[in-house]
Amino acid sequence: DPRIMRIASSMRVISDFPKPGFKFKDISTLLLDPKAFKDTVDLFVQRYAGMDIAVVAGVEARGFIFGTPIALAIGAKFVPLRKPRKLPGEVISEKYILEYGTDCLEMHIEAVEPGERALVVDDLVATGGTLGAAINLLERAGAEVVECACVIELPHLKGRQKLNGKPLYVLVESD
Ligand code: IMP
Repeated sequence: DPRIMRIASSMRVISDFPKPGFKFKDISTLLLDPKAFKDTVDLFVQRYAGMDIAVVAGVEARGFIFGTPIALAIGAKFVPLRKPRKLPGEVISEKYILEYGTDCLEMHIEAVEPGERALVVDDLVATGGTLGAAINLLERAGAEVVECACVIELPHLKGRQKLNGKPLYVLVESD
């Protein structure tokens, strides 16, 4: 698919960000190419339209960029999964392990109803800890997580193994 080629080549890699030795995959340049950005959203919409998805849950912050247009296009509600102490209402929280230390995602408890079919969206899956926490939040609220969708996967980090058996759909793989 030539669209995938264009999406892959619109992203860039920044060395030693956010720390020395890291190779940061930067999707901000994809957003500067309106065709690549639209193709990215269209590919996800093609896949998820007609799958009876009620909830698109986007992970702060880059999961919001891709998750909201997908939700609008497929007629689902959008639920932000946020970093701690950002959401004003009653939340449930899920801690997860990072390379150094832990992090946490929160969701408004009343945002999801039991039995709703949910899609989790983020820009990139690395170790899978973030998506794993997102899946746990949705399942604790009673949702049925249908799939996780990311623009980029770093397959060598084996993030798929942390998704509790849920399928992961990605557009681009990177090393
Ligand atoms: P994981 O929890 O190890 O899978 O890390 C994924 C989370 O960290 C996602 O929310 C990503 O946005 C972020 N992340 C990790 N590495 C990168 C990167 O190279 N580029 C952009 N985001 C990244």
